[in-house]
Amino acid sequence: MTALFDVAVVGLGAMGSAAIAHLAARGVKVIGIDAYYPAHALSSSHGDSRLIRLGYFEDPSYVPLLQRAYANWRTLEARLCGDILTTTGVLQIGKPDSKIVSGTKKSCALHNLPLETLDSGEMRRRFPVFSLDEDEIALLDPQGGYLRPEAAVMGYLKLAASDGAALHFGERVTAIEPGGDGVTIISATGRYSASKVIIATGSWIGELVPALRDHAVPIKQVVAWYQPTDGFMTMPQRMPVFIRDEGENGSFFGFPAIGVDGIKIGRHAHFREPIDPNQPNPPVNERDTHLLDSFINHRLPAAAGVRVRSATCRYTMLPSEDFLLDLLPGDKRIVVASPCSGHGFKFTSVVGEILADLALDGGTNLPIGAFSFKAMDRFLATRAA
Ligand SMILES: Cc1cc2nc3c(=O)[nH]c(=O)nc-3n(C[C@H](O)[C@H](O)[C@H](O)COP(=O)(O)OP(=O)(O)OC[C@H]3O[C@@H](n4cnc5c(N)ncnc54)[C@H](O)[C@@H]3O)c2cc1C
Repeated sequence: MTALFDVAVVGLGAMGSAAIAHLAARGVKVIGIDAYYPAHALSSSHGDSRLIRLGYFEDPSYVPLLQRAYANWRTLEARLCGDILTTTGVLQIGKPDSKIVSGTKKSCALHNLPLETLDSGEMRRRFPVFSLDEDEIALLDPQGGYLRPEAAVMGYLKLAASDGAALHFGERVTAIEPGGDGVTIISATGRYSASKVIIATGSWIGELVPALRDHAVPIKQVVAWYQPTDGFMTMPQRMPVFIRDEGENGSFFGFPAIGVDGIKIGRHAHFREPIDPNQPNPPVNERDTHLLDSFINHRLPAAAGVRVRSATCRYTMLPSEDFLLDLLPGDKRIVVASPCSGHGFKFTSVVGEILADLALDGGTNLPIGAFSFKAMDRFLATRAA
């Protein structure tokens, strides 16, 4: 079977679902194909909550994209008449010279963003669930909060369908073949022809984009949920979302008791153990739970009740731990959306817009210069030198 589409989106997780909704809203004839079903457990976009914050410690250059992402999340909510983004504030905790604290201050100063500094005494009074060392501080970004990943993915797909997109689930794309008249997308059950293709296949990206095969590395990420010992202190109204710089022990993140499972925590990139995306996620083991239990007992004693749930998910890391959003070198009809190195969900709403721009216009006005193949090559060359 051959069909002609303006754009085909391969992979309908976070990035692909946002892209197809943006494309369909612009009146484009578009098809989306996913190997599984929306927000499935092998994707990187499930697990109840994703953190969003504005004063980005990683680099101030992300802030304009985040401002656009916030606006786009609110547009999505308005179109769905539903909640996707909840503002609780986000606390960024650590020593004053830690990467998270100093980076957040720098980003907020540069972009004139509101930020409150709290010492350990003020933290005890205002947010007693957190236990800080005397020499630690917390920065409260009042615009931080959490997103609902499953609702976002389902919401984008619902809008795409109502704007006329064709959606195919349970259909794995096995090859993408550029030709004279267009690009052919081949799956076990169909062949489709499109003028442009967006590849947003998350932890599987290396299979369809050989240039990323050695560079996009899926790793095991573990999160766990705990019933709080103090239900009052851990309500979203009383406990902001947080990230915590533990120096050489990495950084941890967590959410208040949003749903029935309670407080959720994890360590960014966990133990950085590579996994095979075509195998089931490796089970949570004792080493995993020991890490998270120790953290919650030490740092959030009022939250450290019974661990009721734990799960393995996938991060897919690029060498720079940045994003890659670009046209494929050698064929400008193919747009590549990297899985975003474990911190991309908050950007989904703006990445969808960027991918639609790249597919339709071959470029975008949004600032993505740092996320190109050239930037990745430069990073690799610097690292090798
Ligand atoms: C536990 C965890 C916590 C996180 N926390 C945060 C956070 O707090 N804040 C934040 O901003 N980010 C966070 N992230 C990162 C963020 O969730 C990811 O960057 C994002 O979800 C990746 O989305 P994606 O669309 O690239 O991948 P996915 O959502 O995995 O989508 C890829 C899709 O492609 C499909 N696919 C693959 N191969 C094929 C094929 N051959 N044919 C057809 N379909 C195919 C898959 O079935 C899948 O549905 C977290 C990630 C994890 C795992």
